[in-house]
Amino acid sequence: MLDNLNPATGQIIAKIPNSNHADVAKATDAAKLALPNWRGLTKGERINWLNKIAQALEERSEDIAKTESMDTGKPIALARRVDAARSISNFRFFAKHAEQLTENKFTMADATNYVIRKPVGVVGLITPWNLPLYLLSWKVAPALVMGNTIVAKPSEMTPMTANLLAKTLHDIDFPKGVVNIVHGLGPSTGQAILEHPEICAISFTGGTETGKIVAKTAGPMFKKLSLELGGKNATIILDDADLETAATGAAKAAFTNSGQVCLCGSRVLIDAKIYDAFVPKFIDAVAAMKVGNPADESTDIGSVISQQHMEKVLSYIELAKQEGGTITHGGQRIIPNHASLQNGSFISPTVIENLSISSRCATEEIFGPVVTLHKFDSDFEAIEMANSTQYGLAGSIWTSDTTRGKQFAKQIDSGILWVNTWLHRDLRTPFGGVKNSGVGREGGDWSLNFFSELSNICVKDD
Ligand code: NAD
Repeated sequence: MLDNLNPATGQIIAKIPNSNHADVAKATDAAKLALPNWRGLTKGERINWLNKIAQALEERSEDIAKTESMDTGKPIALARRVDAARSISNFRFFAKHAEQLTENKFTMADATNYVIRKPVGVVGLITPWNLPLYLLSWKVAPALVMGNTIVAKPSEMTPMTANLLAKTLHDIDFPKGVVNIVHGLGPSTGQAILEHPEICAISFTGGTETGKIVAKTAGPMFKKLSLELGGKNATIILDDADLETAATGAAKAAFTNSGQVCLCGSRVLIDAKIYDAFVPKFIDAVAAMKVGNPADESTDIGSVISQQHMEKVLSYIELAKQEGGTITHGGQRIIPNHASLQNGSFISPTVIENLSISSRCATEEIFGPVVTLHKFDSDFEAIEMANSTQYGLAGSIWTSDTTRGKQFAKQIDSGILWVNTWLHRDLRTPFGGVKNSGVGREGGDWSLNFFSELSNICVKDD
């Protein structure tokens, strides 16, 4: 058994099994057994189930938010607004989106081709700790609606809401064996999922280094593979940006969920002409963020995910100093003034200036409340800087000229770009990265395509 801790208090809140190959094999057997009946339902029947799951989760939405906040250390208001809300809407969205899916038909002079979709089979879903149920449901919903059965492993650091999902499915008499959740560590439980020969597809969200292991194991087995990996995203402030709006937007992009969102803008690139005017506004926006008790409704930034992660983030702050950086704001651990939080893993939002764009702190994914600021002298240089890391997940551009912003966005090697906004999501759009940020896309049709196999049936006319 493994201890599961609340990172804001350092207290053990649960114990989870570290499942092994035999446990994963049992889960896969259950999923295989349930597959014929589940795929045999009509699409309409599966859509009804998705809506029922959404309804049941909605009735527990406060429970989801509280559990997620306790498990991750994120502020309760954020857990309500983002985690609970999106977990529910993921099911509603894919129910609606699948309804609109039509079959392609290609007519020849003497035959008709019917392109039909079949489920892939038993699919393996592996997810990280930063948005636990949000990212798990983002995979579970499309997998289910396309007729697959599931073996899923949440992060060992945040198992609670996956368990809550399992309980919810049980309470609504969801067919047994269709969704199987196995808890445990990556190298044991996760690896067993990757290696199981009856699991036909792997949808993975997590770090780039883990993604390499996933690809190395599942690739030679010809499993269908979706990899959503890390990022080092740029927030680009052009010389014509509204500085107040850009400062608030860049601060939100850098520090939401303590900077632990794969889409966070952890490098802010600023036109030299406005650098001195922008930075004080940015620092003011960061200083206004309240760090502390996740249970407090007015908290903006809670703890990071674990003590070990806090130490990793603090070691990057030390490295930044050695690399010649200047800490302009924050830079240290915080111990909130609350008895239960004395062992919590809190870090003040940290702003670092004067680092080279090629320094380790400006190129490696820190995945914490740390942002580096960089000056550029031309649009060309800004694009070069934005594209200068191994990653290519997301980015945002701030300008008063949206045509210029869109042109700029076209030159950045990332899967997701925003102009004058950040984390503004339409679930129908493709989501995913290029370069070492991943392979494949999720969202809308892209998720439904991943969780289905196309077959062409060519029927000769009578
Ligand atoms: P991680 O790679 O350490 O773990 C992710 C999952 O993989 C966990 O469930 C873990 O137990 C499992 N795992 C670890 N080793 C494994 C192995 N050998 N075989 C199979 N499974 C294994 O990532 P994390 O620290 O949980 O999450 C943070 C990372 O996730 C960051 O890099 C972040 O950018 C990335 N992320 C990406 C996206 C995206 O959509 N691109 C979204 C959220 C997070």
